[in-house]
Order: sequence, then structure tokens, then C-alpha cells
Amino acid sequence: MSRPNLKDHSVESLRERFAAEGIAPYRADQVAAWLYARGVEDLGAMTDLGRDLRERLAGEWATRALDVETAQTSRDGTVKAALRAEDGALVEAVLIPEEERTTLCVSTQVGCPLACSFCATGALGFTRNLRTAEIVDQVCRMRELLPPGRRLSNLVFMGMGEPLLNAAAVVEACRILVHPKAFALAPRRVTVSTVGLVPAIEPLLRAVPVNLAVSLHATTDAVRDELVPLNRRFPLEVLLGELRRLDCVTRQRPVFFEYTLIAGVNDSRADARRLAPLLRGIPAKLNLIPMNAHPDSSLAAPSEERIDGFLREVAASGLRVTLRRSRGPDIQAACGQLALRPPARRQGAAAPSLQGAVSEGR
Ligand code: SAH
Repeated sequence: MSRPNLKDHSVESLRERFAAEGIAPYRADQVAAWLYARGVEDLGAMTDLGRDLRERLAGEWATRALDVETAQTSRDGTVKAALRAEDGALVEAVLIPEEERTTLCVSTQVGCPLACSFCATGALGFTRNLRTAEIVDQVCRMRELLPPGRRLSNLVFMGMGEPLLNAAAVVEACRILVHPKAFALAPRRVTVSTVGLVPAIEPLLRAVPVNLAVSLHATTDAVRDELVPLNRRFPLEVLLGELRRLDCVTRQRPVFFEYTLIAGVNDSRADARRLAPLLRGIPAKLNLIPMNAHPDSSLAAPSEERIDGFLREVAASGLRVTLRRSRGPDIQAACGQLALRPPARRQGAAAPSLQGAVSEGR
């Protein structure tokens, strides 16, 4: 195998590793400042390390895990890139510039094993988990594609894969994201999204102070079993019961429920009315996402009137709810569209009603 990568380690873990190798632990902080705060990967250029240490580290460690294979910019400014790992695996990351923030959406797995029926990544099947360095390097590469004057403000683990099936690497990446010497993101600007892998939720929330998003998508087990096959193992009562039980879920740290609205599947008035009672007792915000069309699914978004009606019904029930508009639909960069399609196949695949729409909420 190739050399170990410095980006596989949080600052805390690198300090320990350095100490064990007879290197002063504070050197880990210096290395992190170069790699993440300054975006320098050439160990030879890390001048405050001293020449001997620079040479030693350069002989033992790698600092890069991904290269940009292709990058496309949407009419709305969203940038989607395919990034190539050392073994040739490709993953996608999406940069979403908005008025008041710039959000990066990163992947955690090559493909995904959970096969949610409406998700393009699910149709790819599963290849492997990403390493911490490969998660963190999505931030490094995408940051280099930021328009001048833009800073990364938010990060969501909502790209390809199920983060909680790769929890150890995700937690280590979160530590790097929030460390003041590294990316220094505010912890509440980092959100990990899961379909509801129940046993992995509490350990994640206890390990790192980030937000939790849960992909809900249905108000009955019958419908959720069809959309999210993992629901058969962790049905609604078990998932929501766990969230109700956790004392680390509070009004200051609510759960962000994601609800993809799919015409004729989960968009009825009855669904809208069931949501508030279903989520009672859980500090929550609900995010509605109209289904983004893609070639692997015949499912579609409801009409504008129906989306509007659903939103109003939920809001009237007292739940905090927002509607998220798709970003980058013309380049298949929206939620559930990440599937590494070559550009030629993307033409005309986006849902016309969502073209150019702006993002609200979140
Ligand atoms: N596996 C995790 C992380 C991915 S997040 C999870 O599912 O939570 C990606 C979000 O986009 C999820 O909420 C997912 O349900 C949603 N999504 C998937 N396919 C979609 C589609 N075609 N249209 C709109 N949203 C979709």
C-alpha cells in the first residue's frame, strides 16, 4: 500500500501519533494549520517545522487523497465535481453558494448499499467506504473551486453514501472540520445526515458537537419500507423513539428531518397532518425537498400547488418547516442525483419545474 496520509488523522490523533514517534505534539497543530487553514500540501513548504522534520515527514507521509476529475458549474452557481481517489474510485461533491452562506455537500461512501428507491446514488450499489483523508480532501479540493471572495461557511454530509455506515471516518473528519487550527467551522454549521441507522446515532452525537439530519420521507411504515428499505430493520417507532430518548437532542440542537416530497407517494393531506403528532416530543425542524428527477427513477415531484398545500398544512400544525429548492438541477447536482453520470447523459434529465429555482430554508 501507499504511505499513510496525514489527513486521515484529527489533530488530536496526530498529536498522539507524533508523540509516540518522538516528535513534539505541537507539531501536529502546525501541520494542521498548513494543510487546512492555509491549504498547503507540500511538506517541504511548511517552513516553521524545521528542515529535518520537514524531510522526515515528507519521506513518511502523503498529504493528498483526491484529484479533481471533472467540475461543472450550474447556471445558479452551484459547482459539482467528480473527484478521483488513488484507487481510481470516483465520488461527487457539490458546492452551493447562497446569499448568506456557502455550503459544501460531501460524500462518505463510493456508492451506497441502502438502495433507497428514489435516490440515484442508491441505484449505483456500494463499492467502499471513504477514508477520513478522502472526506477531508473533498473540502480541500472544492475550496480551491470557490469563487473569489467566498469562504466555506457550512458543510453537510449529504452527498453519496450513508455517513453512519462509515461513522469512524466521519467522526474523525468532523473533528478536523471544527478544530480551530484546521478548518475551524462552527460545529453547528456541520450537519451529518442519516436514513436512520439507529445504533450509530447516539455515539455520533456524543463524539462530535455537529447537527443531525434524519431522512424521514414518510409518515407510515408501509410507505417508508418502500422508500427506505432500512426502515424494515429500524421502523419509525424505533427511530423516533430513540430520538425522543436522547438528551443530547435539544431545542438548541434539534433534529433536521428531511422529507422528499414525491407525487402520489407521500404528499397527501393525511401525510401532512400526521407529521406533527409523529414528531411530537422531538425538538425538530422539518425540511421539505421536492423529488429531484433522475434517469433511474420514474418518481416525480408533486405540482407546485400540491407542494404549497403540503407546506401550509404542516406549518399550520406548529412544526418548524422550510421548503428547500433544488440547486444545480441542470448539472444533476441536486439531492439524490449524485450518480457520476457522464455529461452527455445529463442533458434534459433535470426536472423542468425546478430549473433555476432558488434555495430556501436550511
Ligand atoms: N444517506 C444519507 C446521506 C445522503 S443525504 C441520507 O439519506 O440521509 C441526501 C438527501 O437527499 C437525503 O435526505 C435523501 O433522502 C435525499 N434524496 C435522495 N434522493 C432524492 C431525490 N431524488 N430527490 C430529492 N431528495 C433526494
